[in-house]
This record gives sequence, structure tokens and C-alpha cells, in this order.
Amino acid sequence: MGATTSGEIRAHNRVRLLRAVHDCGAGRTRSQLTRDLRLSRGTASVLVAGLAEDDLLHEEPAREHARGRPTQVPGPHPRGPLALAADVREDAWELAACELGGGTTVLELRPHDGTPDGALRPLGAAIAAHGRRLGHRVIGVGVALAGPVRHGGLVDIAHLGWRSVDVPGVLRSGASETPRPGDPEAPRPDGRGDQEAPPWRLGEGVPGVPVVGNDTAFAALAEARRGRLRGVRVGLHLHVDFDLGGVLVVDGLPLGGASGTGAEFGHMPLTVSDRLCPCGAIGCWGMDVGANALLRHVGLAYGGGRGRAQAEEVLATSEEAVAANARALGRGVAALVNAHDPEVVTLSGHGVELLERAGATLMDSCAPGLMAIRRDDPPPIEGSALGWRGALLGAMESVFDAFLTPEGLERWRENHPDQGHDTPDQRNVTHSTMKGAEPT
Ligand SMILES: [Zn+2]
Repeated sequence: MGATTSGEIRAHNRVRLLRAVHDCGAGRTRSQLTRDLRLSRGTASVLVAGLAEDDLLHEEPAREHARGRPTQVPGPHPRGPLALAADVREDAWELAACELGGGTTVLELRPHDGTPDGALRPLGAAIAAHGRRLGHRVIGVGVALAGPVRHGGLVDIAHLGWRSVDVPGVLRSGASETPRPGDPEAPRPDGRGDQEAPPWRLGEGVPGVPVVGNDTAFAALAEARRGRLRGVRVGLHLHVDFDLGGVLVVDGLPLGGASGTGAEFGHMPLTVSDRLCPCGAIGCWGMDVGANALLRHVGLAYGGGRGRAQAEEVLATSEEAVAANARALGRGVAALVNAHDPEVVTLSGHGVELLERAGATLMDSCAPGLMAIRRDDPPPIEGSALGWRGALLGAMESVFDAFLTPEGLERWRENHPDQGHDTPDQRNVTHSTMKGAEPT
């Protein structure tokens, strides 16, 4: 649908400008953005002023500028929109507040017992608490999970025995639990907060419905937006944690399948194995790559989301276990390259370390599996630029995708009285896995 009236054109340009600021990591100057978007200087100036007035954008002087007038860099407003993003792994979850441009603040990191209630109810409570504290700044919630996600919220995690877990439902039940003293959702000393209508509730319309997705698909989306798959037409992304997930990324979008469970290359029999996978299939590739396979290789107990620290120790010290992982990874990559002809193969999670520790073994295992027509110019296999943060950042992107629309911005204006703002701060964070280079 084309924008025709001046109001529609203005709304369209507001979205374009915010999208450009978000996608470039708030790293380009106003004049660069003006050129990128083919706006006139006057139009850009009016747009920036309007967006600043709505607490959507804030300009800072560029750190370096040539002679002449100082250059401004549009970025997130200090009272601007925040996406809450969570990465639920098999043994712990991490919750972060993410601003326009992709800047993230980890709010909480907690281990869990591997059950749906043990993992998701405290997360629901934390989301509700921070959502209430951050007020109208919260534009939505994205949640990454280590298993296939059907119909927007039903999750199976075979290793943990999760079958059709209604993730939004369990989060909501955790969110409705009574706040404990000292929690950020407890009534404020000034009496504000609970007396007012809660500004954010799970499951009650936009932005209350969490965007639930598969961790590999989210990691792939993040890689396409601000990592090594940016601008790549066909890419293959593999995420290695306790086991392995993989998805094809076409024109920047992970292929989700008919019901949303597409990111499951880990459950293909790509290596010669007759081991029964908890998913119910025999010989799944993911059984031979990741923390579980590392633990199994050295005779340690594995499964159920336990043993991360021991697996990291094995990864750092056992050449043999690492080589076995790398060989299995290489064989499977060859099969998928034969099938899909990707421009590049990217690895996240433990895949980055496997590549660093045993890249030659991985390549030696991959090469013989390639069809002759693929061997002259095989796609490069590269580590993610986003470290372990991909799943979290992908969850964030999904929230901003829903927000950065004319309707999303209009809703922000309507729901944005000039009161009750707070800023994200870190709570209960002793060790964040959000290491690695800053997103570009
Ligand atoms: Zn399987």
C-alpha cells in the first residue's frame, strides 16, 4: 500500500528513519541517514524534531567530525521504547532490556531446574516486574527457547521432556504471582504503580502477547540483521548449545516452515549414527554436536540441560572430544551445503569455539562430503559476529519489527503520557553470557 496523503507520507518516513537508526546500531550521522533515505535536509530536520518530541529519538554530537558544523548522530531516546528480550536455555534464562539501535542491558540471569514451571514462572514474574517498573517504555516481549515453537507459543524441548508447553500461558501464570517485598513490582513508596492500571500485562493485547521463537531461528535473524548474514541472499546458520539447531536464511528471513518449526536441521540423520534422539527420531545430527556430545565423549553424564560448566571444561581441554564434535559438524555442513547452496555458513554458540579450536578438522571433514560442483568454490564457514547474544538479539528484533510500523508508532503516541518512566538497571546478574563484539 503506497502512502499518498501528506500525513501518511510523514508516518511512513518516521518509520523509515527509525528503522534506519535501529538497523545501523545508531552509528550513522543525520546527514548520512538523510542521504541513505533520499530525504531533503529540511524534511529530515522536521522528522528528527518530531521524533525527539515523542521520546523516540535523541541526537548526540558525533565523536569526530570534520571542520564546519558539528554533526549529530540520531540514537535511542533516554525515555524511549524498550523491547524486553529473554533467552531461555536448557539450564538458565537471561532477560534484557533492548533499546532502539540494539543496545542491551541485562536485567536478570537465573538458573532453572529444567521444568516448564521452574523455568518460565520466575521469568514471567521478572518480565511483569520489569515491565511494570519500566512502564510505557516497554513495547513488547520476545522470548527465545531451545526447541521447536509451534503456532506462536507451543514449545517442545525433547531433552527436558517438554511436550506442547504453552509458553505464554506459563509466563502469564508466573506474572500474576504476588510480588515479594524488594522485587521491582512491589508498590512504590510514593504509592504510584499498583493504584494505576498496570501499564503492561502478559497476554492482554499488544504489546502484551510475547513473541515466542526458536533460539536458532532468532540467532539466525540477528545474524541477518547485524551480523555476518547481513546482505546475504541465501545463508545457512547453525547454533550450537547443548545440541545443534540449524536453519536456512533467505533474503534475511529464517525459513520457519508451515507451523513455525523449521529450524531443525539438528534432527536430520546427517552423520552415521543409530543413536535414539530424545525427539523420537534415530540418528539425529544434533546428538553428535554440542555440550551433550562433548560430555558423552569423555564419559560424563549428559542430558537434561545439566553439565554446562563441565562441557566448557571439555571444550577447553579435550582435543579428542573437540575433534569428534568438529568432524560431526563438518559432515553435516557438507550435506546441507549440497542441498541448499548457501553463500556462507555461520556458526553461533559453541560453534564459534569449535571453529576456533578445530577449524582445520572441521574443514577436512566437510570437504569430502561436498559434491564435486561445490568443491571449487565452497561457501566460507564463519563464526558469528554476535557471540552468544544472537538468540536474545533476534527476540529483540521481532519485537521492534512489530513496533516500527505507522500503527506501532501511533500506539506509542497514544499510550505515552509523560510520567512513570524508569530506566533499566541490572538486577541479580552475576555472570552474563553477553560477551563478544558490540553489534555493528
Ligand atoms: Zn532428534
